[in-house]
Amino acid sequence: MKLLLATNNAHKAQEIREILKDSYTEIVTMREAGIDLDVVEDGATFRENALKKAEETLAAAWNRFDAVLADDSGLCVDALNGAPGVYSARFSGEGHNDAANNAKLVSLLADVPDERRTARFCCCIALARKGLSPIVVQGEVEGTILHEARGENGFGYDPFFYYAPFQKSFAELSADEKNSVSHRKRALTLLREALDVENRGRL
Ligand code: IMP
Repeated sequence: MKLLLATNNAHKAQEIREILKDSYTEIVTMREAGIDLDVVEDGATFRENALKKAEETLAAAWNRFDAVLADDSGLCVDALNGAPGVYSARFSGEGHNDAANNAKLVSLLADVPDERRTARFCCCIALARKGLSPIVVQGEVEGTILHEARGENGFGYDPFFYYAPFQKSFAELSADEKNSVSHRKRALTLLREALDVENRGRL
C-alpha cells in the first residue's frame, strides 16, 4: 500500500512516517514522487481545505498511489472570533510573512486583557483512499497570546503562543517538546486510532 503525502515539508513527513509506518509499505512526499500540483486552499474551514487537497491530489496520482494524506493548520484566537484561522499563513496579505503576521496579531490584541487572550492551534488531517471513505481528524492545543515574542525556535506564531503546562511559549520549546503536545501530533494520534479501530472491525 502506497501513501502520498501532499506536502514537501520534510519535518512533517518524518512525523507522519513514524506514526503510519505500520499501515503503508511506502510513504513519499510530492517532491519524492516527482509530482508538482498546487491545490487552491479556498475552503472556509481547515477540514474543507485538507479534504480538498487530499482528494484532488489522489485524483492526480490515481495510477501510482493507494491513498493521499493532506493537512491544513492554523491559529484561532477567541477575541478575534477565530481569526486568523484558515488565513493564518496570509493574515497580513498574500505572500507568507511570519513577522508581518505576528505584528498584525499583537496589534489587534493590544487592548485585550490577559484573561481574554485565549487561542488554539488547530490541525486537520484528511486521508483520501481509493475505494474507501476518507478519514478526517482534527487535533488542537490550547494556549494564550503573549504581548511580546518569547523564544527563537519553531516558526509562524510560535513566539507569541504561550503554553501554560510548560510555562513557555512554543518558540521556547525544543522540537521534541513541541512535537509531543502539538496540534499536528494530536491529529496524527487520532488518525492512528481511527485506522486501528477500522482494522479491528475487519478482523
Ligand atoms: P500549514 O497548514 O502547515 O501550511 O500552516 C498554515 C499557517 O498556520 C502557517 O503558515 C503558520 O502561520 C500557522 N501555523 C500552523 N501550525 C503552526 C505551528 O505549529 N506554529 C506556528 N504557526 C503555525
